[in-house]
Amino acid sequence: ARYEVGRGWYDARLTRYAPLQLDPGAAALHYAQSIFEGLKAYAQPDGTVATFRPEANAARFVRSAERLAMPPVPEQAFLAGVDALVDADRDWVPTGPDQTLYLRPYQLAVESFLGVRPAHEYLFLIIASPAGAYFPRGVQPVSVYVSEDYVRAAPGGTGDVKCAGNYAASLLPQQQASALGCDQVVYLDAVEKKYIEELGGMNLFFVLGSGADAELVTPELSGTLLPGITRDSLITLARDMGHRVTERKVTLDEWRSGVTDGVITETFACGTAAVITPLGEAKARTGDFLVGAGVPGTLTMALRESLLDIQHGRVADTHGWLHRIA
Ligand code: PMP
Repeated sequence: ARYEVGRGWYDARLTRYAPLQLDPGAAALHYAQSIFEGLKAYAQPDGTVATFRPEANAARFVRSAERLAMPPVPEQAFLAGVDALVDADRDWVPTGPDQTLYLRPYQLAVESFLGVRPAHEYLFLIIASPAGAYFPRGVQPVSVYVSEDYVRAAPGGTGDVKCAGNYAASLLPQQQASALGCDQVVYLDAVEKKYIEELGGMNLFFVLGSGADAELVTPELSGTLLPGITRDSLITLARDMGHRVTERKVTLDEWRSGVTDGVITETFACGTAAVITPLGEAKARTGDFLVGAGVPGTLTMALRESLLDIQHGRVADTHGWLHRIA
């Protein structure tokens, strides 16, 4: 769909995948006035297709738009667009184990001008791509590099929304992590460089203790981390399973000494793409450590199965999280 100041949203349509024509002066190309979402459609055992909590993505998209001074796509229009695309692409929803159709709604400023101000013209698009199982050969812990040089988000910045610029800023630290043999970057807060925030595209959870008494701790939504929909779902699922879940600040020192002392038994990251990924080796300038003996933890795997079972329709959807495409 297109937007013009004075006209509003118009021209919503389904078209074949093709290159876009953009004016070389399009504001998004110069000033990153660009936001996006990521969600998935899952083939259900009864042959239907469902998306997972799309209303949460629509609501976050509106918050992202407002932070980037863009006119938000109405939530109903966002949801109708996702439904229409999934319906049209039904045959592209894979049915293999843990396979999905990944959906990427996004909005960019297309008006051409060279001053810095919010644009008057926008494009809202949704593209789709079949996605294979994230761990085709079984779940493997990822190694992480704690970045003490770069931050992902600063107070008052854009860290709590999904805008393109956040990810541009994360490329260099990611390259640095890769050069050190690590899969992902762990970001600390920008002010004290002390508190753990999240990975470049996933939220974090720490497991304290084990068995039925295990407790979960996740960094609180400080305003500089993205409120993940997977994070929110896992807080609910863990509480359903009888575990205590606390949202609070966690320092790098607490994480490292907790792991070393055996207080923190598991650490995992979560997000739409990987669902849950256990963390293994952690590298930091102030000392490396190994989480959970380098193997996926029990609660990590139980929560992973629990969420995947709901998403793939293998158990009852007691929270009403699945949205069936009629
Ligand atoms: N943090 C960041 C920075 C992300 O990009 C993502 C992916 N959207 C997440 C966390 C996880 O969010 P969600 O569970 O909604 O996919």
